[in-house]
Amino acid sequence: MIVDTLIHARWIIPVEPESVTYENHSLVIDKGRIIDLLPTDTAKHKYQGTTTENLSSHALLPGFINCHTHAAMTLMRGIADDLPLMDWLQNHIWPLEQKWMSEAFVRDGTDLAIAEMILGGTTCFNDMYFFPDVTAQQAIQHGIRACVGLIVIDFPTVWAENSAAYIAKGLDIHDQFRHQPLITTSFAPHAPYTVSDDPLQKIRTLADELEIPINMHVHETLHEVEQAQANTGQRPLQRLNSLGLLNPSFIAVHMTQLTVEEISLFAESGAHIVHCPESNLKLASGFCPIAQCLNVGINVALGTDGAASNNDLDMMGEMRSAALLAKAVAQDASSVPAMTALRMATINGAKALGLDHEIGSLTIGKSADVIAIDLDHLETQPVFSPVSQIVYAASRQQVTDVWVAGKQLLKQRQLTTVDISALKAKIVDWQGKLSK
Ligand SMILES: [Zn+2]
Repeated sequence: MIVDTLIHARWIIPVEPESVTYENHSLVIDKGRIIDLLPTDTAKHKYQGTTTENLSSHALLPGFINCHTHAAMTLMRGIADDLPLMDWLQNHIWPLEQKWMSEAFVRDGTDLAIAEMILGGTTCFNDMYFFPDVTAQQAIQHGIRACVGLIVIDFPTVWAENSAAYIAKGLDIHDQFRHQPLITTSFAPHAPYTVSDDPLQKIRTLADELEIPINMHVHETLHEVEQAQANTGQRPLQRLNSLGLLNPSFIAVHMTQLTVEEISLFAESGAHIVHCPESNLKLASGFCPIAQCLNVGINVALGTDGAASNNDLDMMGEMRSAALLAKAVAQDASSVPAMTALRMATINGAKALGLDHEIGSLTIGKSADVIAIDLDHLETQPVFSPVSQIVYAASRQQVTDVWVAGKQLLKQRQLTTVDISALKAKIVDWQGKLSK
């Protein structure tokens, strides 16, 4: 049988079923989907690929799902470091955004983020930023999958003047992109301290109608929780619960401040957590107790946050940080083993976005969002366990090939949909503007 792409690999880590690694197996892709996964000996008889890849020292796995980004902020990488969250936001990031935010800023910043993400094996990102229509267009142009957040915030920006306008623009974007196979949307009210009750109630009703997730920064810092308690007498999570937001389509990003009661309330609600360990470390925001959360059955996905507070969009680095930090926080070296960290970066992200029927594992019938990591580097030898090497020792430079919906976006480390010299010229231009 003739198929579009046949990939023979040394190892295949499908992620589902969990803890399975196939050796000398092949992945068969046709019309953008995985149609078979079988021993290479058999595959060579059964299939003929229009394109055939022999990846004899590589592990194939599902592409990483970066569940929390502000892609365009990549243009602000390194512009204000070593500051606490509110100082960083109020005195640096927000003034810069006020001055420079535009369609062009979002287009060029998103292009940089997409190039970096593809090079690091990310095949899907869940974004929250202004001009989400531009983010969606750039994702389509470069062939990467994205869930774009329909941002809502109480104060006026160049994107919208008030919460009703943010919501209306968001609904238009949802309509505009609803037939695009690589694009989904979520409502993205920025945070409990920047969005009031009325718009949150409206968003809840609309999200139910449209069956899309709600994605929000929640309990990022102790300061946020204390301020809310002083102003309203309630912790933010309590307030969100009373507004009916905590349900299986709610995605809470950060969650560094959690009581035992809040963890069980959250588990019962079926809502998801996105853990961003490096951003939380860099801004000294606190630690999300992910081992405790996973133990009670909460789905925990992984995100880098924006490159202005990380400072990279490296999901392999993020997996390692998540696995290491979880052990320190739980004071238990068996917390978040390598396979759990890999699941957080793949299938758990797909579940949070409601896309686990389509992506997150190398399963027959799912979209062919696939990456290859070459383990034939001295730094990842010997290979007793490919998953251990990938989580604890490999670097993103070892990602050699990336496919999204069967289309190859990275081929032997070369980006196929990005003009690197044109992109670099635009970045130099922005650096000049932003440093004024
Ligand atoms: Zn964020």
